[in-house]
Amino acid sequence: YPPGMFASGFRDTFDVGPPLGSGHFATVYTAVEKKTGTQFAVKVFKKQRSAEATRTQGLQQEIAMLMSVSHPNVLCLKGTYEEDDGVYLVLELAPEGELFNYIIKYQKLREPETRKIFKQLLNGLKYLHDRNIVHRDIKPENILIIDKDLHVKLADFGLAKIIGEDSFTTSLCGTPSYVAPEILEPSGQRRYSRAVDIWSLGVVLYICLCGFPPFSDELFSEKNPFNLSQQIRMGRFEFPSPYWDTVGDAALDLIEKMLMVDPMKRIKVDAALDHPWIKDKSWIDPHDSCNSLADAIENLGFVRRTVVQTRTLLAEAPGLANPASQNPSKVKVVPNQQNGARGGNPKAGNVDKFSKKPDNLDPQTKA
Ligand code: ATP
Repeated sequence: YPPGMFASGFRDTFDVGPPLGSGHFATVYTAVEKKTGTQFAVKVFKKQRSAEATRTQGLQQEIAMLMSVSHPNVLCLKGTYEEDDGVYLVLELAPEGELFNYIIKYQKLREPETRKIFKQLLNGLKYLHDRNIVHRDIKPENILIIDKDLHVKLADFGLAKIIGEDSFTTSLCGTPSYVAPEILEPSGQRRYSRAVDIWSLGVVLYICLCGFPPFSDELFSEKNPFNLSQQIRMGRFEFPSPYWDTVGDAALDLIEKMLMVDPMKRIKVDAALDHPWIKDKSWIDPHDSCNSLADAIENLGFVRRTVVQTRTLLAEAPGLANPASQNPSKVKVVPNQQNGARGGNPKAGNVDKFSKKPDNLDPQTKA
């Protein structure tokens, strides 16, 4: 490591509290600085793993990245220590945990609170992108909530990489549901840059507003014969009723602009911050009145809008063109019991943690 990157004397400086959770490489605990009583989170890479992990570029990258950033919406690294039993990263504490759990708790969020969260996330992302830092793993698990006022921070730069304006990177990474289409292109065409973060944030925005993901293998059916990767590469997704009926058009417009397959056409962070949905100052949401149960039942199975950007992948599935995609207006959905199952434990699967599938999302043209 660069000299001085790790200090010693962690246990002289901090009292370690209960664990907050663990990931693939590390366990995170609360920690209190003895001198000030300030609470932190400490990410501990244990010795047997840290010997390997610290040798990898990943951890050094994460450390260098975290130490160089300072923004209210980016989780900051306060210090790094190395002890006999492992490597300790002292981080800002996010007492309210992951956005992931917040969405699970409330199932979906309303527009005003989603807007409040996304203004901050876009500001954090602008800070990173202005410094040529691409996060590369934006997902609700990596968005941490600081307080009950919904102050949020982008966290976990384990996969982040500094890239130049003209440079690009070709390593395949990220979490399947959130990866941008250009990352899924056959190697050689896998040129991508900061636009991948906008795509992932677009997926998170979609999930916040309805509680299920835009792209999912769970949506695979006879009438939607596209797997997760194909859906992403085609930019094929829907805003099914009644889930999207109460969401304003501006939100749908921003999602569509963030989920543009062509990274050159995809909205940039500055333009996203200027988008009317983000700029909207009204706290009272005109679309907030819930549909009556009768309305919901009447509308169940309709698709408010279907987005298909490229049909190139249809060649891979000849004769399986989706009728819903040919008529993006209201399309009647025939209930399909077999495909109506919900996903169970949302944290169980790696691919689609928000595996809740909207009931009966099996579009067919109205007879
Ligand atoms: P992965 O390998 O899956 O990316 P990881 O080894 O990087 O995981 P994390 O997932 O970052 O570890 O953290 C493990 C747990 O600790 C998660 O539940 C996360 O929400 C929690 N956590 C991480 N950082 C903080 C923090 N600063 N404040 C509060 N909780 C945190």
